[in-house]
Amino acid sequence: MVIDVEQEKKEIIGRYRKLLRKAKPVLKEGDARRIKKAFSMAVEAHKDMRRKSGEPYIFHPLAVAQICVEEIGLGTTSIIAALLHDVVEDTDIELTDIERMFGKKVAQIIDGLTKVSGVFEFGTSQQAENFRKMLFTLADDVRVILIKLADRLHNMRTLDSMPRNKQLKISSETIYLYAPLAHRLGLNAIKSELEDLYLRFTDRPVYESIAQNIDDTRASRNKFIKSFMQPIKEELDRYKIKYEIKGRPKSIYSIWNKMRKQNIPFEEVYDLFAIRIIIDVPVENEKAVCWQVYSVVTDFYTPNPDRLRDWISTPKANGYESLHTTVMAKNGQWVEVQIRTQRMDEIAEKGYAAHWKYKETASAHESNLEKWLVKVRDSLAQNDHSALDFVNDFRGNLFSEEVFVFTPRGELKTLPYGATALDFAFEIHSQVGSKCIGAKVNNKLVPINYILKNGDQIEILTSQKQKPHEDWLRFAITSKAKSRIKDVLKEDKKKVAEDGKEIVLRKLKQMKVDPTQVVMEQLREFFNLPSHFDLFYRIGKGIIPASDVKRFKDFKPKSPLKNKPNVRVADAQAIEQEITKIKGRYEDILLIGEDMDIVDYKLAKCCTPIPGDDVFGFVTVSEGIKIHRTTCPNAAELLANHGNRVVKAKWTSQHEVAFLTGLKIKGTDRVGLINDVSKIISEELKVNMSSMSFYTDSGIFEGEIMLYVHDTRHLEQLVNKLEKVEGVVKVSRFDSKVVE
Ligand code: MN
Repeated sequence: MVIDVEQEKKEIIGRYRKLLRKAKPVLKEGDARRIKKAFSMAVEAHKDMRRKSGEPYIFHPLAVAQICVEEIGLGTTSIIAALLHDVVEDTDIELTDIERMFGKKVAQIIDGLTKVSGVFEFGTSQQAENFRKMLFTLADDVRVILIKLADRLHNMRTLDSMPRNKQLKISSETIYLYAPLAHRLGLNAIKSELEDLYLRFTDRPVYESIAQNIDDTRASRNKFIKSFMQPIKEELDRYKIKYEIKGRPKSIYSIWNKMRKQNIPFEEVYDLFAIRIIIDVPVENEKAVCWQVYSVVTDFYTPNPDRLRDWISTPKANGYESLHTTVMAKNGQWVEVQIRTQRMDEIAEKGYAAHWKYKETASAHESNLEKWLVKVRDSLAQNDHSALDFVNDFRGNLFSEEVFVFTPRGELKTLPYGATALDFAFEIHSQVGSKCIGAKVNNKLVPINYILKNGDQIEILTSQKQKPHEDWLRFAITSKAKSRIKDVLKEDKKKVAEDGKEIVLRKLKQMKVDPTQVVMEQLREFFNLPSHFDLFYRIGKGIIPASDVKRFKDFKPKSPLKNKPNVRVADAQAIEQEITKIKGRYEDILLIGEDMDIVDYKLAKCCTPIPGDDVFGFVTVSEGIKIHRTTCPNAAELLANHGNRVVKAKWTSQHEVAFLTGLKIKGTDRVGLINDVSKIISEELKVNMSSMSFYTDSGIFEGEIMLYVHDTRHLEQLVNKLEKVEGVVKVSRFDSKVVE
């Protein structure tokens, strides 16, 4: 790369002049000279340094100073500190030099900024505590925080040139701490930009598609706003109220948040934008005129009384003032209308300081700025409890669906709320997850099902001997962890089944029986298992002793369909024809409970249908027709891929027969609970149980019961009774995991 030094010098001077121009209204006598001195010092100190992007380093402090002036509204002290914010850390200049040249105040701020930059760097479990320290002890002067925010904003704006891992780390810190901090300080424009940048660097396709959507819908949005505002405008003109209309869409990040939370596409985000009516009115008339505008708006459109927000009478803690209402537009769409004055609008966008800057003399600005800084400090100091509470508190509920935790090296990880140490382990690496035996959270030992809390620092403990268990599926909530666990379990099972198959083949050979398809099928029937895989697995696992295979020798198979009339299982059409033929009527539906004599059918074990369920018949290769519920987990696959083997089926009324079904019961554990549950099942409702299993874990119990019921109504009755048992929280029917 060829660098044109002269051109660069010009550019640096140009940017410096722009900074001065913006600062001019707040400069007092002698300020410009001091700023110039700081600028020269910074240029000199950083002269051989370049940013990752290749541009001269001085661009960065200049940009930070510019943000301080233009977007936060800070004054000379902050400009000087911003220009010099990186020199102590990165160059030979020492704090004492700065104090000598610019005084104690500037030196203190720069000292604070230098220490703050280490907040995330040390990688201890102390992030939250450090952050609080940054806000309290280091930040004797709130300007430290404000300049740090400006610094972060510029780093986010120029994050493109950073390597991917840095982008993710810096973005995560930004969304976790800096954006909520900006929000708390009332710097809404900065907050929104930080959030948008976060999304842009963590999920660019999503970011870009939303940006594109906003762009594509701009014309129609503007048209809508224009016609919506038409009658209001006429009325406001009649009252001679000076106003301005803005119809800006929500930030990309907040649209994305809506889409994610409500699981809806862009088109369905109904409050994509708010219409803002900004009025120009003297301070003393503000409130009255705002309500006058409100009355005009609601003369034309019906307001939703639940959505009226008066932040003029009682401003938000961060200083936000505005009057919000949501009204019904002519097309039936709810539209949020924000009514505020220019003063309120500026405060809402930029915070207090930026507002005062334009309205007052330099010295009035300084005293007001001073007042605001005190106010900010007070608002940060309001929280006196633990560091974590503090961080959580000011982060508000913005991110309540996520938990933010740290690796031992201080790397931030975001997981869904409710995630466990096990999820975290799989998040690190699937090998770490698979070998996880426990964890240390903030240096305390916890089990793998420990539920993560914001700010936890987690170290995963592993053992080479460890491998995933079935019950891990209960502990993991992220799909990443779950699918990895399932994969491993499946792999394991497959291996066991392969071993089992070998054992079976060996035994058959000893018995001098050929392992034909038919023999295998009879063997399965002999052991009464749903599939060959189950048989092999059980033998491989030793649940069925290998020696039992020998007992098969004397087995007299009653092979399915053998004794039935001429039905050959070919496809559904053949069966339907057969039904029609035998019944001698125009009826091709398999009537369960009546047609037993025509064709052989079984109720599928995967979904255990009972009378009342929506069902279909499926022609299997070797086991006749299986009846599945249409809601069976396997239904979609069967219906989609083997349509020609599907038989229409329905239930005939029958009450004498009982059908096997499964119920899952969840609740809080207490003495006698299981007894109460089984009593209801067997005594009160006279239901037979085929099996029952319960387990309890730290006060929570879960049970699975297989029982016989007549039909869905009978089952409903039972569920209702069980749900009334004290301690029982939820009773639901379940589909077994066996796939037939
Ligand atoms: Mn910096």
